[in-house]
Amino acid sequence: MPCPVQSDPPIAPRGEALRPGLYIVATPIGNLGDMTMRAIDTLSRCDAVACEDTRVTGKLLKHLGISKPLWRYDDHAEAKASVQIAQECGAKAIALVSDAGTPLVSDPGYRLVREARELGHYVTTTPGACAAIAGLTLSGLPNDRFLFAGFLPPKDKARRDMLTELATVPASLIFYESGPRLVKSLEAIDEVLPNREIAVAREITKLHEECRRGMGAGLVAWYEANPPKGEIVLMVGPPPEEEFAGDSDALLREALATMKTSQAAAHVAKLTGLERKDLYTRAMELKG
Ligand code: SAM
Repeated sequence: MPCPVQSDPPIAPRGEALRPGLYIVATPIGNLGDMTMRAIDTLSRCDAVACEDTRVTGKLLKHLGISKPLWRYDDHAEAKASVQIAQECGAKAIALVSDAGTPLVSDPGYRLVREARELGHYVTTTPGACAAIAGLTLSGLPNDRFLFAGFLPPKDKARRDMLTELATVPASLIFYESGPRLVKSLEAIDEVLPNREIAVAREITKLHEECRRGMGAGLVAWYEANPPKGEIVLMVGPPPEEEFAGDSDALLREALATMKTSQAAAHVAKLTGLERKDLYTRAMELKG
């Protein structure tokens, strides 16, 4: 079913002023074409834009033909600025953007959202590009469950400790990474999480977008020979499912007592994680 387009709330009809509050606005991660219409609309009608780097956001607004007061809101200013900006949200519509992508995802904003909510102000979001999600969709890794873990620590021991902590998480893992640190991180993953598929998505939505998937040693060799440039999302596939160690024949016999062969195979496949096709063949053998 198509998703209904809803324009009010959270966006006031065109031409009207935005209601006071905090507007979280995602911006592109490399391709200006990924600016959403709602993001442009919000930025054109807000009273001010809180941003990490006024030069970066200034360039984006200039490209869009928008001129707004820019308020600095970066990691250093975050604690103090959160209180001030949250107070302003009571009387003004303030857009929060980061340099690229979705604010708050490995970017400042969390404190500001909390403060604004605590003051009872309107808080809304204009979703859009996010490198973690874009990377996962490109990777071909299982995506029914994933865990985004931000940047891996730069120091060897801390990086290994974090990977060890995440080793048993039954989900694909997503990290942000930089070119110069990629090989070290791949080596650490290969050591701490052996036999796991890894994907590297680079320069997503830009001219040199690429995504490589493979095992640790192969990717280490590739990126040692081809030092990566640009921005990177590094992903690790989930741990292999534990092999069923019980007596599947006994389960099949029990199921066959009350079910048809195909139902019994499907039932035991669900219980054990074993392949339904193999269980069906085995069930036929057991039936003689
Ligand atoms: N908030 C942003 C988002 O929603 O994606 C992420 C901000 S975080 C400070 C920046 C990191 O995101 C980069 O170091 C890189 O790991 C990743 N990133 C951003 N843009 C990217 C792109 N176009 N391709 C691959 N990775 C990207």
